[in-house]
Amino acid sequence: MPIIFGPVNSRRFGKSLGIDLSPSKKQCNFDCLYCELKPAKTMGAYEDVVSVDEVMEALNGVLAQHQDIDALTVTANGEPTLYPYLSELMDKINRVKGDIKTLILSNASTINNPDIQEALMKFDTVKLSLDCATPRCLKRLDRANKGIDVESIKEGMLSFREKFLNSLIIEILMVSGINDTKEEIEALNSYLLKLKPTRIDIGTIDRPPAYPVEGLSYEEILERSTWFDATLPIYIAHRQKVLAKASSYSKDDILETIKKRPLTPEDIEVLFDTQSKERLKILVKEEEIKVETYSDYDFFVRYS
Ligand code: SF4
Repeated sequence: MPIIFGPVNSRRFGKSLGIDLSPSKKQCNFDCLYCELKPAKTMGAYEDVVSVDEVMEALNGVLAQHQDIDALTVTANGEPTLYPYLSELMDKINRVKGDIKTLILSNASTINNPDIQEALMKFDTVKLSLDCATPRCLKRLDRANKGIDVESIKEGMLSFREKFLNSLIIEILMVSGINDTKEEIEALNSYLLKLKPTRIDIGTIDRPPAYPVEGLSYEEILERSTWFDATLPIYIAHRQKVLAKASSYSKDDILETIKKRPLTPEDIEVLFDTQSKERLKILVKEEEIKVETYSDYDFFVRYS
């Protein structure tokens, strides 16, 4: 498998490239029920390691062909923070990247390690998974390698947040009957209020999972999202949004809904019928509702 993949074009992020730090096989310290990759035994360290020179050679080659790259995403067939030379690699990438924005996607298992925190400080955006805030849920859903516990992940995220002033995005992947319950969401909610991430993305299973588990419908995620505190900037990433039905919202309904949870323009597109969208525009003009941006995503929120 190639180390560099893409470029991929998106309206929001422009042209982006991915860097796979584990191109040969899955190397992960989690064995999540919902993983898009085939099940594999968990590990605490990479067995197959590509050198920093190999990664840089591949990256420089692709950057020479595409001079208009906007973003670089560091990821892996598994967990990228298990790559032993992440900090050194980021120093080299930062020397050549110019204005290109960098992002890493991690399962957060190593976030309590000061060396990993130091490496993550070198990114523009850090996106960490947090499916569970209780030990029982982590054991059932993410099935972490021995020695990883949810309390140390939570502590590590808090200490990282104190010093990382760039965008910290938390990703929650909801699985039916496991982390979508009142109890689990309450635990996540109280922790996220302390953490204050820049944005929270809630998604669900949309590709065949490693084990027989089920995702939630868009309506179910929307309902769960209202169980979180209304001040948390939650973005619903759901590929089946289009299946939801547009409804009519009065001005009061709009104010009440947005009070419960900030809505993105994509949510509005799916949930609101044409007249409701007009009512929303009026509420913005009347300064009842405004648009705020959290890490590249716009949200409609109430004036406080
Ligand atoms: S952390 Fe990511 S790669 Fe690892 S098992 Fe979970 S979903 Fe798969």
